[in-house]
Amino acid sequence: MGTRREVLGIGAKVAALGLAPGLAGQAHAALPRDSGRKIGYAVVGLGYYATRQIMPNFAGCEHSRLVALVSGTPAKLEQYGAQYGIPASHRYSYDQFDAIRDNPDIDAVYVVLPNSLHAEYSIRAAQAGKHVLCEKPMATSVAECQAMIAASRKAGKKLMIGYRSRFEPYNRLAIELARGGHVGPTRLVTAEHGFPIKPDQWRLDKALSGGGSMMDIGIYSLNAARYLTGEEPVEVSAVESTDRSDPRFRTVEDRVSFVLRFPSGVQANCISSYSSAHNGYRVIGTQGWIALEPATPYTGQAMTIRKDNVTTPRTLPEPARNQFVGQLDHLAECVLTGATPIVPGEEGLADMRLIEAIYRSAAERRHVELKA
Ligand code: NAD
Repeated sequence: MGTRREVLGIGAKVAALGLAPGLAGQAHAALPRDSGRKIGYAVVGLGYYATRQIMPNFAGCEHSRLVALVSGTPAKLEQYGAQYGIPASHRYSYDQFDAIRDNPDIDAVYVVLPNSLHAEYSIRAAQAGKHVLCEKPMATSVAECQAMIAASRKAGKKLMIGYRSRFEPYNRLAIELARGGHVGPTRLVTAEHGFPIKPDQWRLDKALSGGGSMMDIGIYSLNAARYLTGEEPVEVSAVESTDRSDPRFRTVEDRVSFVLRFPSGVQANCISSYSSAHNGYRVIGTQGWIALEPATPYTGQAMTIRKDNVTTPRTLPEPARNQFVGQLDHLAECVLTGATPIVPGEEGLADMRLIEAIYRSAAERRHVELKA
């Protein structure tokens, strides 16, 4: 197996995205005391995640409100418009999308569309003078991610990616403990995410998804390996296993095992799967390990710590705001204070560069080196 030096340019910018002290707390940007203003969001794409997870959580937000809807289905605009009190003047079809520029109630656009549409709608939103919160994966290629970052930068607007785990208390605590050396210096991270995917959906159509399990669920293993170490990998190797006779996997991959090697010598062994059920990670140090299993569901995270041969479950109190509220309000707080989101476009770009390297490694059956 050969090794080729790749100039993928994973920047110091991303490596420098350190986390503020007090990680296990909420991600708060300092707001002026008299700030009563709420940032108005337009949600684009009224599918499962938008309607079941995101839209109901505006009710718990302090700095964010739902002010507009964008959908290709008039009945959905009618149904959710009525449910959330969104007037007809603030309901848009995809064809009318660019008219959001004339609606001063809309400060930010939350893109919750199939992956291949993320870049187009994020760029159009920035060009309409709006801040953007875009779902993961940020897009379907490095080039698209770069174009999104350039568009938001040109517009002078924020761009944030929907990495909700960064607003979830157990994940925040895991980061703090791992980076703080609670179980000794980290030597290994193991991370696995997968679920048996149901047939007949856009996730299985590469033109809409950009790829298979890696783009959708394996990205949680990848992102966790990066946020638990705070480092950017210097080498990737991957093996893919896909049964192409399974009708679900005609155009996208099923399982990928990948190994990331970090500059400090830490190694991450990661799994992505569309045919097996798992969700967890473990940070292993010289004195024990920190396990989160499940690690990244909507609720129900469970943490166990083994240190000096003693294993202890660790429970946290219910947070004042859940990860969905935390995420929505974080962008709002960044808009109100001028702060940079803790998960900006550069964070999505870093993952996409690695996903491309993982695909290349698996396809060419070789290690891929990455350069800072
Ligand atoms: P979904 O299929 O339920 O919703 C997608 C929406 O996009 C639908 O309303 C559909 O009508 C609309 N759409 C517009 N143009 C389309 C087209 N050309 N083809 C197909 N649909 C089109 O999907 P979802 O589960 O809501 O996922 C949407 C996005 O949210 C994805 O990027 C996904 O990765 C992300 N997501 C994130 C999380 C998370 O936990 N962060 C969870 C689920 C989904």
